[in-house]
Amino acid sequence: MSRNLSSPKDRGFFIKRVDLKPEDKPILYIDMDNTAINFQSGIDKLTPAQMEEFEGRYDEVPGIFSKMELMDGFLDAFNELKIIYDIYFASTAPWLNPSAWSDKLICIKELIGDEENTSKRLILTHNKQLLIGDVLVDDRPNNGAENFGCGLVVFGSEGLTSWKLVTERLIVINQSLRQYYSGS
Ligand SMILES: [Mg+2]
Repeated sequence: MSRNLSSPKDRGFFIKRVDLKPEDKPILYIDMDNTAINFQSGIDKLTPAQMEEFEGRYDEVPGIFSKMELMDGFLDAFNELKIIYDIYFASTAPWLNPSAWSDKLICIKELIGDEENTSKRLILTHNKQLLIGDVLVDDRPNNGAENFGCGLVVFGSEGLTSWKLVTERLIVINQSLRQYYSGS
């Protein structure tokens, strides 16, 4: 991916959402697999027979998405960021693994908690370019992420290799967005 993400002034962070009031929080979308959720932690729990049968397509193992754990530091990051962002999960589920669709919902309820109806913030789509908001955190350009209309923060890229670092970047971006929306 060639996009320079070193500054919140890069492409996209200043596309003004016409419906945003000064008191509203900017909208942050977070990808799940290998961004919020540790995909490898699900692979690690497969049986040898499943490993063999689904080699190279582990995302098609029935139930695999119910076995996964959060990425290191994600829960702390989520709880910090939800104060300053309106957060949604933007995830893509495999078409050949119907259980993935419900497992992702269960995953959010069990790993993050649902006291604030967080699971209702799950959006499953192969077309993230259609989402309207301010920032998307994603580890890959796939499924429309590269063409998301506003800011893209690539989890795992240089300087953004942990949720601590990503949170620091998102706090800076949030300040820029608020200044922009307030017209200052
Ligand atoms: Mg991902």
